[in-house]
Amino acid sequence: MARTFHIYGNWKLNKNASESAQLALETAQAAAVTNGKVKVAVAPVFTNITTVRSALGSTSHVNLLAQNGYPKASGAFTGEVSFALLKDAGCDGVIIGHSERRQIFGETNEFIADKVQAAAEIGLQVVLCCGETLDEREAGKTWEIVEKQLTVGLSKLPENLRSSVIIAYEPVWAIGTGKTASPDQAQEIHALIRKLLGTLWTPSQAAEVIIQYGGSVNESNALELFRKEDIDGALVGGAALKVDSFSKIIQAAFEVSQ
Ligand code: PEP
Repeated sequence: MARTFHIYGNWKLNKNASESAQLALETAQAAAVTNGKVKVAVAPVFTNITTVRSALGSTSHVNLLAQNGYPKASGAFTGEVSFALLKDAGCDGVIIGHSERRQIFGETNEFIADKVQAAAEIGLQVVLCCGETLDEREAGKTWEIVEKQLTVGLSKLPENLRSSVIIAYEPVWAIGTGKTASPDQAQEIHALIRKLLGTLWTPSQAAEVIIQYGGSVNESNALELFRKEDIDGALVGGAALKVDSFSKIIQAAFEVSQ
């Protein structure tokens, strides 16, 4: 089945408000060239979400994501931002379970499951990240880790909200390191993820789900990755901060989709 390529930029803790607005506008110009054939989104830091929303306008072809959110609706949770408030601020979706959240901030699969449920119930698109560390890969545990991250992470998602989830497979050893998984390494795990979703969900839902690859994707390696059957786009960190690189990644997806 033909799935649409999804190219999403995770800006992490980078760019002030005016730089974010500028990059959002440049990204929107790059996305416009594909005539909606490639779905593009950007994820600025929390404080720049409303600025980027205004810069893009409410009908932009570029979707707006948050990089994180908190599963409780309100209350004594100092420093946290609920998914309802993210929606209210103009977000279309949210990245959940990024490896930096798991590793630096100690997020567990169970906490991530609460977030996936809460974000989907509020009506946000969920980009659920998974991926193994180098030690786990070298110990032959890649699939065990990814399977658990997804099985637990998706365990509280209501059945009727499955179409709001996309998966980003991001081997931790490839994030921000300049080391990309080879297209074959990535394809192997993407195919296993789709097979797993065929058992957790239904085969037709698994055939439709978008599975992005993430980990040092750039203009030189994107085309080869996107030619693989189960790779439906990319979650891009560093290369999303430079519009020249990001637009070439969008172009690579457009080329393969033709
Ligand atoms: C990411 O932050 O999700 C990511 C994949 O980063 P990078 O592209 O810089 O490796």
